[in-house]
Amino acid sequence: MAGPLLEVQQLEKQFAVGGAWLARHRRIIRAVDGVSFALEPGETLGLVGESGCGKSTTGRLILRLIEPSAGHIRFEGRDLVALSARELWAARQRMQIVFQDPFGSLNPRMRVGSIIAEPLQIYAQADAAGRRRRTAELLEVVGLNPGFAERYPHELSGGQRQRIGIAAALALQPSLIVADEPVSALDVSIQAQVLNLLMDLRRRFGLTYLFISHDLHVVLHMSDRVAVMYLGEIVEIGSRDTIHREAKHPYTQVLLSAVPVADPAARRERIAPKGEVASPLDVPEGCRFHPRCPMAFDRCRVERPAPRDFGAGHLASCHLY
Ligand code: SF4
Repeated sequence: MAGPLLEVQQLEKQFAVGGAWLARHRRIIRAVDGVSFALEPGETLGLVGESGCGKSTTGRLILRLIEPSAGHIRFEGRDLVALSARELWAARQRMQIVFQDPFGSLNPRMRVGSIIAEPLQIYAQADAAGRRRRTAELLEVVGLNPGFAERYPHELSGGQRQRIGIAAALALQPSLIVADEPVSALDVSIQAQVLNLLMDLRRRFGLTYLFISHDLHVVLHMSDRVAVMYLGEIVEIGSRDTIHREAKHPYTQVLLSAVPVADPAARRERIAPKGEVASPLDVPEGCRFHPRCPMAFDRCRVERPAPRDFGAGHLASCHLY
């Protein structure tokens, strides 16, 4: 297939909150507000930002687990927004999600073998013997003994449960995996093992990842390119090295200053943004980051910055440039 595997254009999601009886009390949350990016086959794009910035909503919109308010999502050359329910059901085989909380996402009443085999059964991809074989194969692929098929999720550690979530996501041989904070709920000692597994699987099966995390350190480790989100918008996007060494946006610089660095000479001074992240219910005028930005000036309070192209796919939205 020529061209991007996934192309997202001007994606928007608005939620109405409050005022069930009186429309005038209803308020609109712009959770995702004009997000655009493309993802090449075999690439990992990291989507990073603080909690509430819209990154997980973006991941769910792409899989159409929630419906977009506006925008286009082209996956393997087809506009997912225009697909019928039946066509979308078929397309979902090729795009899967790994959730943050492996315990919450696995059915506690099902044995591991049935959890992994369920997608194969739903899509009628194998008979009972074929499903058993494929389940054993997938358990080995994620580094677990096939004997795990007989266990229940509560008998497993957090890392083992996340491996089961990954095995289930791989069952239908997808091309795209949305990994939504896949290691945030795990002990630090286990996180590296699961991240290494994801990188290994990407190489082995040619997977494409949208890797979502609040932790820029982890995102830089996993991704070829990085998109930084703030209050529903992508404020900067570029290659991992560009974001690491030549970040333009003050918010990216804030996130970078918190990334641990082994070499003391390369250590950055920690930049603390002012105040708390604004509520998506109360999005500031002008640049959304201006109430917290250490570099803000008058123009930032009234005019929304447009993305500026710095070359080689590096874009940042900031009036400083
Ligand atoms: Fe800061 Fe202004 Fe740039 Fe926004 S536009 S990030 S407020 S300098």
